Amino acid sequence: MIVEASSTFWIGLDDTDEREHGCTTFDFNDLVLHLQSNGFFITDPRLVRLWPFAPQRTRGNAALSAAVITTKGDQLESALDDWFTNRFSDLNAGLELHSAEPVLLLTSEQLPVQMYWDTVKNHVDLGDRLVELDSIEHRLWSTHVGRSGLIGASAAIAWRGEHDCTWECTAWRAKLGPRKVPEIVVDMMCKKYPKTILNRDPNASRSLIAPRTPCPVLYGIRGESRDAVLGGHNFLQENGVEQSIGHRAHRTNQATDDHLDTMGSGVVLNLEVMQGGHVKIDAGKYLLAFAQGGPLNSLAQSLKLGDEIEWYGLLDNADTIHLEKLRLARGKRNMKRPVCECGSRYKSRGKCQGLKCPTCGSIEDDIWDFEVQIGDWVEPFASFRRHLSKPLSRMGNAED
Ligand SMILES: [Zn+2]
Repeated sequence: MIVEASSTFWIGLDDTDEREHGCTTFDFNDLVLHLQSNGFFITDPRLVRLWPFAPQRTRGNAALSAAVITTKGDQLESALDDWFTNRFSDLNAGLELHSAEPVLLLTSEQLPVQMYWDTVKNHVDLGDRLVELDSIEHRLWSTHVGRSGLIGASAAIAWRGEHDCTWECTAWRAKLGPRKVPEIVVDMMCKKYPKTILNRDPNASRSLIAPRTPCPVLYGIRGESRDAVLGGHNFLQENGVEQSIGHRAHRTNQATDDHLDTMGSGVVLNLEVMQGGHVKIDAGKYLLAFAQGGPLNSLAQSLKLGDEIEWYGLLDNADTIHLEKLRLARGKRNMKRPVCECGSRYKSRGKCQGLKCPTCGSIEDDIWDFEVQIGDWVEPFASFRRHLSKPLSRMGNAED
């Protein structure tokens, strides 16, 4: 008997959604089911979030990928061809306007990890990515609309997640309309499965698992392990939550801070509270704390000139860093003039003229007494954090 050595191929999919009306996770699940029904073994399905400022993207900016282990590369290619042609034939007929530029990518090896880092931290030009792929064996399916989905599809294949990763069980629904996902059941799930994370905003007392868009996703349960998110899913399904038509546990880069550079630090040189409560800080770099940032915005508003601060944030196109975590590293508070040996407090004699005791007349340098204040890290409430943002409760889970 001749046993052909099996190979690991990679598939990546992105931008199949018509903005908020579709969902790439739904399409990718459909693709995986199609491959499985054709006898292929699929492993390591992943949901990868990418650079939040990428233009023309939905808020989530997610792409999907998985490994396919098979001895039959040619049959895999033909199964992918069938699926893509069937799924997007209407789009190719050009009967209506489409904004999505779906791409399905097949590679015979995992793509270089740098492709992921470039795509999660920065803008990637489609032409550049096509050039990068030139030297790598691959096949790409797209429609006449365009190929911008290639950027996410390739990044999702390139992601390793060896330093840090989380899990999401995504479940899909049969029909659109209001979702039946009672808050109380989500609460119970969070308590029963403590390794599920970021599924509630304790501040707003509301669940974060169900999207607010008219897409096929019923909910996504996030957690630290595959068992936790699958356990949470089964619990919801057994306790009165709308029945899903399918679900899949994905490994993901959510809550890892992969999109951020290293910690920044500086001294507050200027601070402006703008209309609406947003705070703009000049700390050698321009920092922005949005009004919706909860504790982070409160800390920003309380800063004083001269405070030493530390932060994590994402640089936008206008050279402003959108703050995601902030800390007062050293601030001087309760500034007072020192007390003289006679017991009275010194008073200033005027600019650059030192201090004088009002009782005994002794002279002192122009100095201050103050308390040093050092603060803890703060972050926005869970509902205002990005999918990629690592919550403070996860700090230390990887090299920070
Ligand atoms: Zn005195």
